[in-house]
Amino acid sequence: MTQRADVVVVGGGQSGLAAGYHLRRLGVDFVVLDAQSAPGGAWQHTWDSLRLFSPAAHSSLPGRLMPAQQGETYPDAGHVVDYLSDYEKRYELPVQHGAQAQAVRRDGGRFRVETEAGDWSARAVVSATGTWSRPFLPAVPGQDVFTGRRLHTVAYRRPADFAGQRVVVVGGGNSGAQIAADLALAGDVTVTWATQRPPRFLPDDIDGRTLFDVATARRRALDAGRSDTGGVASLGDIVAVPPVRAARDAGLLHAKPMFTRLTATGVQWADGSRSDADAIIWCTGFRPALAHLAPLGLRGPRGHIPTAGTRAVAEPRLHLLGYGDWTGPASATLIGVGRPARDAARDIAQQLSS
Ligand code: FAD
Repeated sequence: MTQRADVVVVGGGQSGLAAGYHLRRLGVDFVVLDAQSAPGGAWQHTWDSLRLFSPAAHSSLPGRLMPAQQGETYPDAGHVVDYLSDYEKRYELPVQHGAQAQAVRRDGGRFRVETEAGDWSARAVVSATGTWSRPFLPAVPGQDVFTGRRLHTVAYRRPADFAGQRVVVVGGGNSGAQIAADLALAGDVTVTWATQRPPRFLPDDIDGRTLFDVATARRRALDAGRSDTGGVASLGDIVAVPPVRAARDAGLLHAKPMFTRLTATGVQWADGSRSDADAIIWCTGFRPALAHLAPLGLRGPRGHIPTAGTRAVAEPRLHLLGYGDWTGPASATLIGVGRPARDAARDIAQQLSS
């Protein structure tokens, strides 16, 4: 049986919920389909020690401030899951969990959204599926000969899983720095941190609040036709959250330039020397999870779908939300997704009524 809604939101993480909040306020008929069996999106699957890079009040979705977590300036992922679960309930958002959209197709003047539990017919679709389900691992010479464990950020949980082991952590962003720090602080793991360029730590007094302010100033400048202020990239990459600061201050966080190849037992450096490793953890980022949109034939360069704001350029009834700056400045953050979600909902409401 095919069910009907004016709008199907695919993905029920923070981005899908923010879209739902604004669609509800505008009185639009919608449903949210989410592949997970429980609320919280990707936050359900992060490593134990992960902390937000902004305090709770600066990590909030539209309408409801995230409460502070007792004893923590920077909340952990469990706190975010609780907040998102509460948000979903509080605004009575119609989220169907365990509903993975396999394909979105054009169907006359509507879309057909196919799931294993049945199809949905919709006039507009918001895709908010995040990136966590598409970890990116770069191709590296020798990758097939390495006999140790190869894992990505998404599979890392805690240092105890590597007790007594030699671990190479790859990647100079926040995930790489936090995981290298987590392992180094444990004391019984030998950590080597490899980065493509020297890691750039933000000053200790800068956290996600400042980053958001800088991103907002950049957006305002661009919107007003003024010159590009450079955005957050001009400040640095790594937020010195407490564990990163602790490891850095204890002299445990030294990055080496990237190795040139993998060997059967570890890695080989540019000078030809080798280090043995039991595991390599690739903190090398993500790609947008867009496979369900493949039947629409919209993919452009770098696997992205060209957008104007959140709206797909070649398919105005489709909006993409939360994947990164290409779907709105800071839209891949808790506090940043509110504005593009509002704009998408307004655009859809206008389209539906015209
Ligand atoms: P997700 O949380 O991934 O939610 C997408 C949902 O869609 C999931 O439930 C998924 O199962 C579902 N889905 C996927 N495909 C389908 C499908 N085909 N059909 C149905 N459902 C589907 N942001 C901050 O603001 N502060 C931070 O401190 C911060 N730290 C971060 C740390 C890490 C390590 C990472 C990776 C990101 C961090 N972010 C942070 C960025 C961002 O807030 C998160 O990545 C956030 O999870 C993105 O939310 P989302 O809703 O867009 O995607």
